[in-house]
Amino acid sequence: MIRSDAHIHTNFSSDSDTPMEAMVQRAIALGLSSICFTDHIDYAFPAETYGIDFLFSVEDYCAAIQKLSVDYPEIAIHTGIELGLKPDILSPALSLAASHSFDFIIGSTHLVDNIDPYYPDYWESYGEEQGIKRYYEITYENLCQGFDFDVYGHFDYILRYCPSVKQACASNHIAESFYRNSLKKNRDIIHEILIKLISLGKGIEINTGGFKAKLGHPNPHEQIIADYRDLGGELLTIGSDAHETKYLAYAFEKIPAILKKCGFSSYTEYKNRKPIQRPI
Ligand SMILES: [Zn+2]
Ligand SMILES: [Zn+2]
Repeated sequence: MIRSDAHIHTNFSSDSDTPMEAMVQRAIALGLSSICFTDHIDYAFPAETYGIDFLFSVEDYCAAIQKLSVDYPEIAIHTGIELGLKPDILSPALSLAASHSFDFIIGSTHLVDNIDPYYPDYWESYGEEQGIKRYYEITYENLCQGFDFDVYGHFDYILRYCPSVKQACASNHIAESFYRNSLKKNRDIIHEILIKLISLGKGIEINTGGFKAKLGHPNPHEQIIADYRDLGGELLTIGSDAHETKYLAYAFEKIPAILKKCGFSSYTEYKNRKPIQRPI
């Protein structure tokens, strides 16, 4: 059973209105033993293009979590962030990680060549096959920069937004043959990324937002989780990526069977940036 949600957004993130305290109360109601807040920090996000930025006062954030930890001793509340990786933000990102006592840092790729693949113009410029490939290439480049983080977030997040998958989801289908082909075509770069993460001592997360997005799979796809294991990976956190209380621990009941099938008997929580293995 998974009793820890390690990827949660609140109104410190520009794309959520949910108060932290509401998330804590919901987590207690669900019987979770721990949660980790991971609000967005995306340095140099092209705010002028998208009309949104992903920055907040980290001091206020840490203080708010500290207060909730005192008010709700029945649950462990960890302090994390989701750092948007980008080749040109290494310096502020390293300073941030060094100057605060975070429990956990997720590193995620949200931008490709400074474009957000959430929007259709990304797919219009790159096309589907190249758009997916470029996401993995940028991921690898980001990992070579030397960022300080613990697990890599939503590994195949790009699949959520590519036109074939969106079309399948809109008609309540699961794009199985598309996933299989895409994983096959990108197998080499996916393996390079996994090997790089393992060599850096970093884990991956199982992000159940994929189920919420109706992909029929978590992010990453089970094949990538199994490959990570086969290549020697051991650090696997579980996160819902909830931006609203109703999605906290979303689809967590599906995870133990997936983990077992992929060769895992435990999952990982981070406290003070150190991994703790928990039995499934
Ligand atoms: Zn993300
Ligand atoms: Zn997130």
